[in-house]
Amino acid sequence: MYDLVIIGGGPGGLSAGIYAIRLGLNTLLVEREMVGGQIALSDLIENYPGFPSISGAGLMEKFEGHARGLGLEIKFTDVQDVASQGNVKVLKTSDGEITTKSVIVATGAKPRRLGVAGEKEFTGKGVSYCATCDGPFFKGLRVVVVGGGDTALKEAVYLSKMAKTVYIVHRRDQFRGEKIQQKRAEEASNVEFLKSHTLKEIKGDKVVEKVVLEDLKTKETRVLDSEGVFIFVGINPTTDFIDVDKDESGFIKTNQKMETSVPGVFAAGDCRTTPLLQVATAVGDGAIAAYTAADYVEGLS
Ligand code: NAP
Repeated sequence: MYDLVIIGGGPGGLSAGIYAIRLGLNTLLVEREMVGGQIALSDLIENYPGFPSISGAGLMEKFEGHARGLGLEIKFTDVQDVASQGNVKVLKTSDGEITTKSVIVATGAKPRRLGVAGEKEFTGKGVSYCATCDGPFFKGLRVVVVGGGDTALKEAVYLSKMAKTVYIVHRRDQFRGEKIQQKRAEEASNVEFLKSHTLKEIKGDKVVEKVVLEDLKTKETRVLDSEGVFIFVGINPTTDFIDVDKDESGFIKTNQKMETSVPGVFAAGDCRTTPLLQVATAVGDGAIAAYTAADYVEGLS
């Protein structure tokens, strides 16, 4: 039986792993897809202290190397359920059960769908949620970016380096994203802003060919030719598999010590209710969660 199982191998989970190993906990990290999490798909990170400019994948390679170097065991499997049996947590995975004294949930969040006609049908055929993964397919073509947060602005700038034109479609007049990201998008000569607009429909034959937009001020509808649609309208937490108290959007509620409503279950990073979704804050959460888990495990003996 493990002292601690960390679910999720993004910045929060890897940070928790580094701290837990150093605290002497017999620790396993389980990951469903790839170590590094969503941030590994980000082309550039410029606000993680000590790294003025580094790719998301590059930074996460360093995190993983650090954790593995300390001896963190990493297993690739999908956790479907976490049950408490007295002081023991039983994790049901696609490869059988894992037992542990404590759990840190660091499963992060996934891109939110817009829910418009054509979105599902054309996903992978012009509709994408990852500019780093799919941007190069749109070299010299027109793309629409939906959203007004940091992700939309940042990815629009990235796409502007390869696409012919990038249209940013945002439902309000004001952007939610940081001023520095807005300025960069404004400075790109091939980025056009369609504020107070919403995307109503994505159309095409076999692949995306055009989008239908609504101008929210005039209520007029217009059709725009575009080969790509990149959707960045926020994120949904990956928390369905665990029964703990959550907020109305499904983010796990914790206190300052990263304790959830279930003793022995802690949460860290983007999967919990937090005012800031950043690598730096996920790393801090992971460190706190590991310390609290160590205290909890010690208290059991
Ligand atoms: P976000 O900040 O929640 O922004 C989502 C955007 O999508 C908002 O502009 C929102 O519009 C729009 N939106 C939501 N639902 C929509 C709908 N149904 N139709 C049309 N538009 C819709 O999400 P995010 O940009 O993915 O960022 C998530 C977190 O990661 C944030 O905390 C962000 O700061 C952080 N992040 C930071 C960086 C960085 O480099 N510092 C980079 C990426 C992400 P409204 O504004 O009108 O609500």
